[in-house]
Amino acid sequence: MSMSILRRPRELVAAGLISPEDEADVVAVAERFTVAITPHIASLIDADDPNDPIALQFVPRKAELVDTPEELADPTGDARHSPLKGLIHRYPDRVLLKPTHACAAYCRFCFRRETVGEGGEALNETEMAAIFDYIRDHPEIWEVILSGGDPFMLSPRRVGEIIRQLDAISHVKVIRFHTRLPIVDPERVTDALADALATEKSLWVVIHANHPRELTPEVRCACKKLSGRGIPLLSQSVLLRGVNDDVATLTALFRALVAMGVKPYYLHHGDMARGTAHFRTSLEDGLELMRRLQFEVSGLCVPAYMLDIPGGGGKVPVGMVE
Ligand SMILES: *Cc1c(COP(=O)(O)O)cnc(C)c1O
Ligand code: SF4
Repeated sequence: MSMSILRRPRELVAAGLISPEDEADVVAVAERFTVAITPHIASLIDADDPNDPIALQFVPRKAELVDTPEELADPTGDARHSPLKGLIHRYPDRVLLKPTHACAAYCRFCFRRETVGEGGEALNETEMAAIFDYIRDHPEIWEVILSGGDPFMLSPRRVGEIIRQLDAISHVKVIRFHTRLPIVDPERVTDALADALATEKSLWVVIHANHPRELTPEVRCACKKLSGRGIPLLSQSVLLRGVNDDVATLTALFRALVAMGVKPYYLHHGDMARGTAHFRTSLEDGLELMRRLQFEVSGLCVPAYMLDIPGGGGKVPVGMVE
C-alpha cells in the first residue's frame, strides 16, 4: 500500500493502478482534470479486478477524454446564480458557500470537475468577509451550506472561524457541511476538526459515499467522532454505472449507512459533466432501481432520487410515478 497521495500517472503505474500502455492517455486526462488518490482509497482497490468499484470512481481512464454533445462545463448552472466568488444563491432561503476548491481525492465523475482541483486557491480573508456581509444583508438566508471542493480540507482553525462568523448572524438557523473527507481520508477527521464544529445553531454533516466497500472501520470511526458530538449525519450518493447501479449494491450501501447512524438523503442522477458519459445511467433505469429498492428496504434506507436540471434549472426529485 502506498503511503502518500498518488497524483502523477507514473505513480499510478508504479502502484499497479493503471497499465504502462495506458499512461499516455492518463497523462492527457490529468492535464484536463485533477487526479489524486489517498492511501486509504488506494488500499481499498483490488488492482486485479478491472471493474473494481473503488478504482472506477478514482482512477482516471481514457473515457474521460470523450465529450458528448449534451455535456456542459457548468452542468448545474452554478455561475448564473453566483453573486460573489465562492457563493451560489440559487434558492432564496439557502446559499452554497465554497471556501476551497481542494479535495483530498478527486472523483472521476465530479460535477464540479471544471472548478475543483489544482489552480483554484481557497478564498482569501477579503473574499470571505464579502460573503459574510452578503449573508448578513440577506435576512431570507436561513441555511448556509459549506461545499467546495471539500470544506473539511480547511484547517480546524479556519472551520472554527467560519462557524463563529455564522453564529453571529441571527437569521442563519442551519449550517450544513457537504464532505467526502470522512470517506477518502478518515484520519483527517481529527478531534480538533470535530471540536471546531461546535455551535449553538443546528449543524448537519452530509457525507458522500457511493459503494458499501467505502464504509471501512476507519470511516465509521471518523463518523463517530462527529455523531458523538451530537452532529446529525446524512449521506448523498451518485448513481454510477458499473459502481452502484444495481439493487443489491444500493441496498447494501444504504443499509450500511443507516446501520452506522447516517440517514441517506439524496441519490443524485449523474450530471452532464464533461467526460463522464461512461458513468451515466438512464433516468428510466434509475427510477426502476428506486422502485425495486423501496420494496426491499426500510424507509430509513431510501434517499430521494434527484436530478439537477442541466444548465441551472435546479434540483428536482425524479418522479416515482410518470
Ligand atoms: C444542492 C444545492 C443546494 C441544497 O439543496 P437541498 O435540496 O436543500 O439539499 C443549495 N444550493 C445549491 C446551488 C445547490 O446546488
Ligand atoms: S469530493 Fe465532491 S467536489 Fe471533490 S471531486 Fe469528489 S464529487 Fe467533486
